[in-house]
Amino acid sequence: MPGILVIGEVAGGRLLPASLEAAAAGAALAKSFGEPLFGALMGDAGGALDSATEAFAAGFATLYLVEHASLHSYTAHAHASAAQAVINAAGPSVVICPHTLRAREWVPCLAAAIDTGLIMDCTGVAADGADLVAHKPVLGGGVVGEFVIRAKPIAPRIVTLRSGASARAADAPNAKVERLPFEATANDRVTLLEEIAAQTSSGPKISDAKIVVSGGRGLGSPDNWHHIEAAASALGAAVGCSRPVADSGWVNSSHQVGLSGNSINAELYVAIGISGAVQHLAGINSSAVVAAINTDAQADIFTRAKYGVAGDYKEVLPAFVERVRQLKG
Ligand SMILES: Cc1cc2nc3c(=O)[nH]c(=O)nc-3n(C[C@H](O)[C@H](O)[C@H](O)COP(=O)(O)OP(=O)(O)OC[C@H]3O[C@@H](n4cnc5c(N)ncnc54)[C@H](O)[C@@H]3O)c2cc1C
Repeated sequence: MPGILVIGEVAGGRLLPASLEAAAAGAALAKSFGEPLFGALMGDAGGALDSATEAFAAGFATLYLVEHASLHSYTAHAHASAAQAVINAAGPSVVICPHTLRAREWVPCLAAAIDTGLIMDCTGVAADGADLVAHKPVLGGGVVGEFVIRAKPIAPRIVTLRSGASARAADAPNAKVERLPFEATANDRVTLLEEIAAQTSSGPKISDAKIVVSGGRGLGSPDNWHHIEAAASALGAAVGCSRPVADSGWVNSSHQVGLSGNSINAELYVAIGISGAVQHLAGINSSAVVAAINTDAQADIFTRAKYGVAGDYKEVLPAFVERVRQLKG
């Protein structure tokens, strides 16, 4: 019997939490299709992969592991090849991956290699008879489209799932772990020369943060970015930014929130000097409470914000930070 295969992601020495959300979506789909749920992880043997296996194993019939030195540093070629090895072993009808920066690169390579259909950045997946229906925002996030993949009979349908699209899976019995043999094939197109860690702000990672403080072009200049850092530090929040801020190099693009950046799943999202373009709002759909500071009382961000201050952040934000520090003692 085929199954639903969820491929988790190990990066930065840990399992990305979005993997658990993908597993929850996979579990619901497995139930609807009446198929078993399989998981897979890929990486270098030891350390991070071991702890990720422990964190990911719950709820799968089988958890496939591909361990190989070529998977130590990320390359799309090695990841797509390893995923292909898992697909050959598991024979799934559907493959689900979290929609991460890496997945944006290697999953299309996989789909091309096995000649099947792929829908990326989905906000939900559901079964409709034998069809897999994927939902994803289109036209800049203003409309949610429904897509069905017409895959060849033996090829799995592949989807990548946006973070925050599903609740994290509840505890379930651990899977049987099966290590797959993997022969890395040479990639004559790309050679990894060196890895340089991106410079990111201190504090929690934006993808798992409960609170995110984001700054936009309204900050006026990178010299004012310390206001955002101070607010994030006071709230114990991750730092986010709008696209013009990332494009101008004020902050590393790994902090960008929106359609072409991170989708976040925060309990509180604070937008400062951000107009609220539809492409920015697409990244905060899953955030519970939005607060905004903007000089323009008509700014679109206020249509999404539960709390807002129409004013200059230079006046409002320092007072807010001071108050937060007082309340925290
Ligand atoms: C295909 C595509 C993908 C895109 N993807 C993304 C994406 O992922 N993320 C993203 O953010 N954008 C994205 N964009 C860009 C998006 O359309 C907007 O251009 C962008 O979000 C605007 O950024 P902003 O709000 O920082 O700047 P602006 O729109 O210039 O807004 C600045 C805001 O700051 C306010 N302001 C000015 N001074 C102050 C002050 N002193 N105090 C308080 N407020 C002040 C202004 O009133 C204004 O509302 C995308 C666009 C396209 C076409």
